[in-house]
Parts: sequence; structure tokens; C-alpha cells
Amino acid sequence: LLLNSKLRIIPLGGLGQIGKNMMVLEYDGHLLIIDAGLMFPENEMLGIDIVIPDMSYVLERKDRVLGIIVTHGHEDHIGALPYLLSQLRVPVYATRLTQGLIEVKLRENHTNDVERHVIAPGDVLPLGPFRTEFFRVNHSIPDGVGLAVETDVGLIVHSGDFKLDSTPVDGLPTDFAKLADLGRRGVLLLLSDSTNAETPGYTPSERTIARIFEDIFARANGRVIVATFASNISRIQQAISIAHKYGRYAAIAGRSMSNNVRMAMDLGYLKVPDDCLLGIDDIQHLPQRQVAIVCTGSQGEPTSALVRMARGEFQPISLLPGDSVIVSSTPIPGNEELINRTLNNLFRLGADVFYDELLDVHVSGHASQEELKLMLNMVQPKFFVPVHGEYRHLVLHARLAEQVGIPRPNIFVMESGQMLELDSQSAQIVGRVSDDYVLVDGLGVGDIGEVVLEDRRLLSRNGFLVVTLVMERGTNQVLSGPEIISRGFVHVSESEELMDRAKAEVLKTVKDPGNRAYLNARIKEALSRFVYNETRRRPLILPVVMEA
Ligand SMILES: [Zn+2]
Ligand SMILES: [Zn+2]
Repeated sequence: LLLNSKLRIIPLGGLGQIGKNMMVLEYDGHLLIIDAGLMFPENEMLGIDIVIPDMSYVLERKDRVLGIIVTHGHEDHIGALPYLLSQLRVPVYATRLTQGLIEVKLRENHTNDVERHVIAPGDVLPLGPFRTEFFRVNHSIPDGVGLAVETDVGLIVHSGDFKLDSTPVDGLPTDFAKLADLGRRGVLLLLSDSTNAETPGYTPSERTIARIFEDIFARANGRVIVATFASNISRIQQAISIAHKYGRYAAIAGRSMSNNVRMAMDLGYLKVPDDCLLGIDDIQHLPQRQVAIVCTGSQGEPTSALVRMARGEFQPISLLPGDSVIVSSTPIPGNEELINRTLNNLFRLGADVFYDELLDVHVSGHASQEELKLMLNMVQPKFFVPVHGEYRHLVLHARLAEQVGIPRPNIFVMESGQMLELDSQSAQIVGRVSDDYVLVDGLGVGDIGEVVLEDRRLLSRNGFLVVTLVMERGTNQVLSGPEIISRGFVHVSESEELMDRAKAEVLKTVKDPGNRAYLNARIKEALSRFVYNETRRRPLILPVVMEA
């Protein structure tokens, strides 16, 4: 029995903002999720650790979700998995390296017992009404894939994050033949990465960085510190290889990067020359000219190794004049302030600092305009939805599609939370499921701090609720509370009945034996839903759970 003969495409994140990518395909009552990422908070969300998509649409249809397919291992594609998987028991499908990164992330967040399957480019995965084929794409991380999903309605192609690099660091270029083949078979809908739709021409190869890095390494008299994303395996590979070439030992600073490096070495995605890699404590006694350090912090993340070094708060390493620091990434919108503060601190310590505005120490992992047009030309879709980008990127990508001959009515510039319905002949945006953020304070550690109280924008509009309760350590026994304090939302004294029911809602959530690590997030979500249903308002909700 066909519940709805139309195929639904529901982006829950990543359209209209960079980050927190998550896409849902729904057909015949079945849901398939593609990616579940996080976003670093925008300036106005000061104090919030990470932002993940509003997943209510899938959480309200839990038993109809067939699985999660992950295109690659970047945070903006896997970062929300611990949260999603703590509430949804479905299998996760991804390539070997991506699974490695997912495993590290799940372990860090104490999310266990997840059914995971390794897929490879060329594999075919039938799940309910969706038959997914995987094809290789280049990106700034190895082992990325795009997807071709065959349905009764037609063939859907999802590019993942991609560029068309002819000389990728791992030697494995995007599968052009497959793309052309899909084009010949007839593609109903293409969803394609828009991150770089502003940039004319072609994105330079990841390999071009090597020359610039070599230059810096060749001239440096002190230590060389390279900061990039913990998941940017290709960049880490280049830093280590070049360090070795110039007679330096490399050390990895920072827990998440160390975990990723160890995993990528085990799986063979990172090739480290013998004895080149030392522990951070072992390099301290070496002459400075023999030392390279690879670390996180290129986005100014407050707890990262680079930021702590810049503040003089990183125990094993004190930066000195003559040390060189390469900050190898472009600022994610919203992080500029944090990055600038870090750069200033590094200069203050007398380091030679190399960053994007000064020198091309970073190349994008995303396709520029000519590559985007090539993708459109190869796949020749009937309908087109630009994905992964801020609103202007989506519009610019839509214009490129028009240039290569896709009729304007067949192009849909969508934002996260909207829903597109397709049959084999037509497509239209039919509504909105939600367009919300879920703000997570210290996902998995329950760390709250002073946080959200600085979030004046949200506060001034909707006020806030602070929920406090004391629980017995190691059980889900509530010792006292919950108490709810409200400011700027409702007067608690005038809404006793509402507050009583809100407290009951919190108790219900607490007693539900889910993953303890996400208790704060679960309370926040349950209460937020309750309050919204009752009042149509979205106050900021700040759970404070104490253990006794
Ligand atoms: Zn990516
Ligand atoms: Zn991405």
C-alpha cells in the first residue's frame, strides 16, 4: 500500500547555513537520512558549544527510519550523530575512514551499541524503497562519496561535499565515468554542494599546498606548528610528510586529533614514516629545528591546543619568538572573532604566523563555479536543488544551473526545514517541517558554565527558562527538583499550572533510561517542544543537572 506516491526531499540542515548538514528522503512511509552534522555557533549564540539540526521530523517517525548514510567524516556531516543515535537505533552506513571517524566520535561521547556497516565506492545498498549506489568524490578528506539513490519515482543524485581534484593527496579522483553514466541513465534530481558557488574558475588541487608548506618549513628556524581541523586527514598527511622531508619529528597535540590520527594510521589512510611521529612530551628535548606540531584550533575553538598555546596555557609547549605557526583553514562564518583573537595572541608571542589572508596555506575542499557546471553537465538532472551553503551560495549555484540550461522552474532554492515533493514529472515545495536550531551545551559532558545567558538576541525575544534538578549519582533517581526559574518568558507565579506540567515533562524525560550523557540535551528538547506546543514560543532553555 502506497501511503504517498510522491518522493519527499527534506533538508533538516545545511541549506541556508554552512554546517549541520542533514537530509531526509521519504518515500512510501520510509525515511532515509543522509548525514547528521553540527555547526559551530554563530556570534549571536555566544556561549553555546555546538548547534545541531532540529531532528523532530525524524524523531517523530523513529520506527520508519531505515538508516543513516554518511557521505564523509567532517564534523558538519557526522557531528550530530552521537545525539541522533542516542535517540534513534538505526544502522549507519559509511566508508571505512568515515566509519573510523564516526567510531572515534561515538566513543568520545559514550554512545555505544550502534550498528555500523562499511560501504565502498561502487557498492549498492538496497534499503526499503531506496537503492543507493556510492561513487567516489574528492574533498579535503579521503574516502568521501556521493550517492545515487534509485527510487520508483526516479534517480536522485547527492554530490556530498566535493571538488574535482585531478591530483588529490590520496591519488583517488572523483569518479567522472560514474557521473556521466548516471547522466545517461537519466537523473530526476541533483542535490549538489554549493559552498564555493561564489568562486569563479576551478578550485586548486590539495597538492598545491605542499609547495607553500615546503617553503615555510624550509625557512623556519624554530618549531613549526600546523593547525587544521581534527578530521582533515589530507592536510595532516601533508604536514607530517613535509616535516619528515625537512628533518623534523612531528607530534600531534589535542585529544580529538590524536584519536583521529591513530585511527587513520591503523586503517592505512595516513602514512607516517617510521619514527617520525613522537609524543608531545618527547619532542620537548629536541632542538627546535627538528620539531613540528600538528594541532587543532584553526577555527579559534576555545579548548583547542592552538588557542591554549596562543594564550600561554598549553602546558607542554610554550611558544617562542622564531616559532612558525600555520593556520590552515578558512574561517567558518561566525568564527572570525575567535580566530582573530588567536592570531593576535600568536603575534604577541612573537611567532611568525601564516594564515589565509597572507599566504595560500589553505585550499578549499569544495568545487568552484566551473566544476559545479561540469557536475551539472555530466549529471543532466531534470530538477536541481543546490545544497550545503548560505542562502547566497544557493542562489548563485541556481544561476549556474540556469546557465547550463536547466529551466528556471525546475530549480528549487530551498532552506533547511522545507519539504520538496517529487513524482517522475513534477516537483514542488509543499511546506515547512521546522526551521530550528538545537543548541547543545557541551554535548556529552553536560558542561554548562555561564553560557547562554549572554544570548541577548534570543533572550530579548523569548526569555529563558532555567531547569534545575539534583539526581543521585549513577542512577536516574531524582533527589530534588525539578525547579523552573523563568525570566522574560512568563511569570512563574501566574502560570503555576503550566509550570507544573512542564516539571512533569522534565521528570518524564529524566526517568526515561536513555543515554545519561545527553540528559541535558534531552531535557532541553522535551521542554522546548512542550513549551512550544503550549505557548507557541521558544524561550531559551537551560537545564542544570547536579549529581549528589
Ligand atoms: Zn566536508
Ligand atoms: Zn560539509
